[in-house]
Amino acid sequence: MSTSTSVRRALPILPVEQISSMKPELADVIEYRKSGLSLNWVVGCPLECGYCVRHLFDNFEMKAPRRLMSDEEAVSQLVSHRYFVAHKTPIQLLNRATDPMLPVVKPHLFNVLRQLDERGLTNHVLVITRWRVEPEDCAVLNSFKNLRLTVLVTHSNIANPKIEPVDSAIAAKSLRTLFDHAERYRTVLYWRPIVPGLNDSNADIARARELSQHAHATVFTGLFFRNEIAAYYESHGLPMPYDETARRKIMPEEAEQRILTAFEGDGSWGALFRKTSCGVAYAHGEADYNGHYGIRELCDICPPEQIARCAGAWVQPDLAAVTQEARELGAVGDIEVNDRAIVVEGLDEPPRYYLQHGFGYQCHDRAKPHHHRQHGRAPIGWKAENGTTPA
Ligand code: SF4
Repeated sequence: MSTSTSVRRALPILPVEQISSMKPELADVIEYRKSGLSLNWVVGCPLECGYCVRHLFDNFEMKAPRRLMSDEEAVSQLVSHRYFVAHKTPIQLLNRATDPMLPVVKPHLFNVLRQLDERGLTNHVLVITRWRVEPEDCAVLNSFKNLRLTVLVTHSNIANPKIEPVDSAIAAKSLRTLFDHAERYRTVLYWRPIVPGLNDSNADIARARELSQHAHATVFTGLFFRNEIAAYYESHGLPMPYDETARRKIMPEEAEQRILTAFEGDGSWGALFRKTSCGVAYAHGEADYNGHYGIRELCDICPPEQIARCAGAWVQPDLAAVTQEARELGAVGDIEVNDRAIVVEGLDEPPRYYLQHGFGYQCHDRAKPHHHRQHGRAPIGWKAENGTTPA
């Protein structure tokens, strides 16, 4: 199997004027997200998923993928980014504005993976797709010698074609293919977005349970329901899943409980995780790189051997070391290291994720507290332990 770095029919690179007319967040190819430093040098997608984050970037109408720069330039910007640490920072490729396995995009994905691998980097790399993956793709994915590569396959089982135009059977087939051929990479069933009433029936849950047997881990999450996505739902006459929008993902308690109950039993289903990084880490036999072990109630569904791994790796960092790094990044006010997280003020998400991945310990913003048991999700659909809905 040739894994040449040459791309025979390269995607065009957009002219500078067009790039500068885009929303700055979209034109900026690197974004630090919770699961890693995300590199998005290709934008545009024909798949039209109703809940796509491209709504947030005014990019939903761009159906033909285009590059913002060459693959070489994208790699160079990633590895020279101020927050990139070789062998440590988790990386995500093309997870924001296209699907990396679209036929015209895939050669560029493989090209960048090849270049990163040839640098000897062992960082985690996450690739998320809902599209077709064939055995010959798996051969390429297996050929990388250094990267810790995970392919997450998004499968929602949402039947409404206006919300989910891509048949979930495509993702299901890709997952099986990936799992059957996995040697050096790992594959995760990314069961999302779960929306009560839309795709959480007993049949949907049974389907996910069956698919979980064809993955190294299964991660379930809710829906990002931001204003822009709500506006799209409204203008297209789609059923509104919630009465209100939220900054964080929505995963109501009742739906979560039904899912957890369905996965209990004799252990014949695949291991289930609430957090992406937990599933990825487990798939590679490692401790979670986001330090979720500090949020101990997250771990109640985790396999015992994984809990032991995370417990062994999780070390409360020294306040002086944290303070020095946080101040260099611009933190103001008190800096705290408690038994769950580092708590800072005045740092937005990128530097907080830098600290989190660097120390392997959660890093929270004092202004945005995480509610106990809600796991950093939106308060919609959750009762506080005293029976009220959290503010
Ligand atoms: S033990 Fe906790 S932190 Fe570690 S992978 Fe499991 S859920 Fe995540």
